[in-house]
Amino acid sequence: MAEVIPAGEALGRALSLLDTGEVVAIPTETVYGLAGDATNGAAVARIFEAKGRPRFNPLIAHVADLAMAERIGVFDPLSRKLAQEFWPGPLTLVLPLRPEAGIHPLVTAGLATIALRMPRGFGNGLIARLGRPLAAPSANSSGRISATSAAAVEADLGGRIPLVVDGGQTPVGLESTIVKADGGRLLLLRPGGIAADEVEAVAGVKLERGATGVQSPGMLASHYAPGAAMRLNVEAVRPGEALLAFGASRVPGFEGAAAMKNLSPSGDLREAAANLFGFMQALDRTGAGVIAVEPIPAHGLGEAINDRLARAAAPRDKPLPPA
Ligand code: AMP
Ligand code: MG
Repeated sequence: MAEVIPAGEALGRALSLLDTGEVVAIPTETVYGLAGDATNGAAVARIFEAKGRPRFNPLIAHVADLAMAERIGVFDPLSRKLAQEFWPGPLTLVLPLRPEAGIHPLVTAGLATIALRMPRGFGNGLIARLGRPLAAPSANSSGRISATSAAAVEADLGGRIPLVVDGGQTPVGLESTIVKADGGRLLLLRPGGIAADEVEAVAGVKLERGATGVQSPGMLASHYAPGAAMRLNVEAVRPGEALLAFGASRVPGFEGAAAMKNLSPSGDLREAAANLFGFMQALDRTGAGVIAVEPIPAHGLGEAINDRLARAAAPRDKPLPPA
């Protein structure tokens, strides 16, 4: 069972767990978050594992202050104005990602944009002390409703995580509002804890709705498609193909592969998840026409890994059913 420690006494324990790549449930003003170091792939993989998420959707990276945010995302004037007005608070901004920021690609699901938010309270102090951003989706298992009390987190995830920080009932109780500035336009990607008209009053432009379907990750089959074609569950590698391998034994023909990356030589799905986006991108950069992918087990994090690979392999620009 998870330790449950009151927020006033939990900082040291939370810091040492996060520093070693563990995940910690923390109170925020919206709902409880399941936090992990956003620069550590194994930590981010643990978030997906603990939630039992069948998909790698991109996560919100939480920052302590605007300076940390500016080191991670590229702010346009409108986004900066919204941050200055609403942060800390339940507003998330989607911005172009600075590739050198050290954010692990599992946080953004390989996208070139990043969702950023500055929380209030315990999470804010924690991030400031850690000195690194925290990836933190809601602290509930996939498909369940978000937790607004430490007891709810403990009942749901207590067997799978080491620590729940108890900050009482979360004041907002709703997830953050997510917006994205796009030229002079402002898109509402998810309604949430700050009402759209409050955002509009500060922004001086109307929020455009209906963008959710296009913007939200995973809606397009080809969202994560590399330039190369993908061949999944291969039984053999054809000459000239790049090989995305998994586990200790290789499929026939691997000697003829143009390039090879092994997601996890020991067959560890958490390690494979952490390596997935980076390795797909690396093999794509070799210029191979086809990336052949060895079979990956379907259990645990394997479900999300296989989902992402299927999307990458799907015909381009074909809509998929919502996640
Ligand atoms: P959660 O962390 O569970 O509150 O969910 C994060 C939300 O942020 C999801 O709805 C994602 O679709 C959205 N999100 C995160 N990153 C991005 C991004 N780069 N572009 C668009 N939406 C994003
Ligand atoms: Mg959630």
